[in-house]
Amino acid sequence: MTASHAPVRQSSVRAHNLALVLQTAANSADRPSRAGIAALTGLTRATVSALVDDLIAGGLLIEHDPAPRTGAGRPAAGLALNADGPAALGLEINVDYLAACVVDLTGSVRHRIVAHGDQRPLSAADSLQALDALAAQARAAAEGEGLTLAGAALAVPGLVAADGLVRVAPNLGWQDVDVPALLPGLAGLPLIVDNEANLAALASAEGERTFLYVSGEIGIGAGIVLDGELYRGVRGWSGEIGHITVFPDGRPCRCGATGCLEQYAGQEQVVADVELAASALGIALAAVVNLLDIGVIVLGGAYAPEFPRLRGGIEAELARRVLTSGLAPVTLRAAELGPDAAMRGAADAVIQSVRDDPAAWLSR
Ligand SMILES: [Zn+2]
Repeated sequence: MTASHAPVRQSSVRAHNLALVLQTAANSADRPSRAGIAALTGLTRATVSALVDDLIAGGLLIEHDPAPRTGAGRPAAGLALNADGPAALGLEINVDYLAACVVDLTGSVRHRIVAHGDQRPLSAADSLQALDALAAQARAAAEGEGLTLAGAALAVPGLVAADGLVRVAPNLGWQDVDVPALLPGLAGLPLIVDNEANLAALASAEGERTFLYVSGEIGIGAGIVLDGELYRGVRGWSGEIGHITVFPDGRPCRCGATGCLEQYAGQEQVVADVELAASALGIALAAVVNLLDIGVIVLGGAYAPEFPRLRGGIEAELARRVLTSGLAPVTLRAAELGPDAAMRGAADAVIQSVRDDPAAWLSR
C-alpha cells in the first residue's frame, strides 16, 4: 500500500462507520447507549464514542440524559435521531395542485402546504414560479423552527432525465423543461427531480418488498418495486401504465395512440363512470400481473379515497384474466398516505440520502 492511498481509505472507512452507527441508532426500538451500539456493530467503544460525538456535533443524533438513579448500576444515556437537525423539503407538481412538505430526520411531517389549481393553462415557467414561492414558504417555516434543509426533491408526472430535465409531461403539456433552472429559490440546495409514481411507491412499501404502486391523477403512473428496489427501466422511464392499451379502437389519447388506460381511468373518468374505470384498470393490471408475477398492488393518489368503489370491478377483471388468480389471488390495497404519497416520497428520498451517507452531510 502506498502512503497516498491511506487517507482515502481511512475516510471511506469512517464514512461507512458513521452510516453504520447512525442506522443502528435509527433502527433500534429503544434508545441505545454508546456501549449498546458498540455491541450491536462490533466496533470498539472508543470508535463508537468518537463517531457519536461527530454525529451529535453535526445535529444528526441527540443523547438523552440518563434517567435519575433509582437503584444499583448507572443508567445509560440513550441515543436517538435528532428531530431538530437536518430536514427535507418534499415538493410535488401535478396537473391540478402544487404541494410542499417538510419532513424531519425522524420521518415526521413538520409542515404541509397544498395549493389547488389547474396547471394546464399555465406555462411550465409560471407553474414552477408558483411552486418556487410555495417552497420558499415551507423553507421559511422550517428554518423558523431551527431546522436545516439538507435538500429538496420534486415529484413530477412525467419522464425525467438524470439531470432533472423533464423530457415530457403530457398532461402538463411540458416538453424538455429544465426544472432546476426554473426553481431559483432552491439554488444552493441539492435537488432531486423524479417521477411522481416512483417517489410515491418508495413511500408506500409498508413492509412489502415486491409490489406495483399505481398513482391515479389526471394521468396514471406506476412504480414497480422488485425486492425492495425501484425498477426504473433502461432509461428511467418505466411505469407508464397509463398508456397501456385497454381498448385498441377506443378514445384518442394525448400521447397520440387510442384506447389508453388513462382515457378510461384517469381521476376525471373515475368521477364520470367508476365501473368503466375499474374495469379498464383491472384489464391493464391483469396484463402487468401476468407478465411480472406481482402479488400486491397499491392504489394511490386519487384512487386511494375511491378504493372502496373501484375494488370490486378491478378484482373481477383480475379473477377473469390473471392465469394464476385461482392459485394465489392478487392483493389490492389503498395507499395509506393517499394523495400525499408523492411529496412524502420526495422528502423521504432526501432523508434517506442523509441517513445513508451522514459523512456527506457532516462535510457540507
Ligand atoms: Zn396514451
